[in-house]
Amino acid sequence: LGTRRPLVAGNWKMNGTRASIPVVEAIRDGLTPDLASRIDALICPPSTLISACVAAVSGSSIAIGGQNLHARENGAFTGSISAEMLADLGATYVIVGHSERRAYHHETDDGVHAKALGARRAGLCGIICVGETIEEREQGRALDIVRAQLAIGLPKGATAADTVIAYEPVWAIGSGRTPTPKDIAEVHASLREMLDKLAGEEAHKIRILYGGSVKPSNAREILSVENVDGALVGGASLVAQDFLGICAAY
Ligand code: PEP
Repeated sequence: LGTRRPLVAGNWKMNGTRASIPVVEAIRDGLTPDLASRIDALICPPSTLISACVAAVSGSSIAIGGQNLHARENGAFTGSISAEMLADLGATYVIVGHSERRAYHHETDDGVHAKALGARRAGLCGIICVGETIEEREQGRALDIVRAQLAIGLPKGATAADTVIAYEPVWAIGSGRTPTPKDIAEVHASLREMLDKLAGEEAHKIRILYGGSVKPSNAREILSVENVDGALVGGASLVAQDFLGICAAY
C-alpha cells in the first residue's frame, strides 16, 4: 500500500431517516482506536442526514460525506446541492459520478469532471467513480471504458487531498457478484498507470477504492489486492456490524 492510508467508505444511497443515526453511532463506538489509527472511515448518508451524522461522529475520526453535488456554487438549480453547502454542514468528502447517477440521472464524464472541480473548489475530497457494465466486460472493453472515464472525469492537477478514485463494476453493485481478485488487480493497475499519466508525481498517493458487493466475508481477499486502497461499500454500510467487519479486514 505504500504511503496510501486505506479508506473504507459507506454509501447509504437513498436509505435512512433520523431513526438511522444509531447506525452511525454504533460505527463510531465500534471502530477501535487501533483501527482508527490505521484507516480512514467515511459514511455518506443522504443529504438530509449529514448534519445529524456530523454531530454524531464529532470527536471521532469518522468522516461524513455527500453522495452527489451540483457543479456550481449556487444559483437557479432547484433541488440541487452545491459542494459549498455540503462543506458548510461539515461534510469532507463527496461521491462523484456513481453509476446510479450515471444510469438514472444521465451523468456524463464531462459532468463528472465539472463536479470534481466543484468539490475541489469547496475543499471537499471527490470520490470519482468509474466502472464497466456487464456487456462492456463481456466484450473485453472493461479497461478501455474505465480508463476513458478517468481520463475525462479527472480534473487536471488532482491531488490525494482532493481526489479518490473508486472502481465499481456496474454489474457488481448490489448484485452479490464480484470480479476475481485477478480481474480487480488488472483494473486497478491500469487505473494506477493512467493516474501516472494524468496526475504525475501525485499519482502514487491517490487512493483507488474497489466497490461492488463488498461484505465482511470477502473484504480480506479484496482489500489485499495490489493497488486496492480501500472499499466503497453500499448495502453492507447500512449495518454497523457489517461495515465494521469490513474495516476489520485491515
Ligand atoms: C455502491 O453503491 O457504491 C456499492 C458498492 O454498493 P454495494 O456494496 O451494495 O454493491
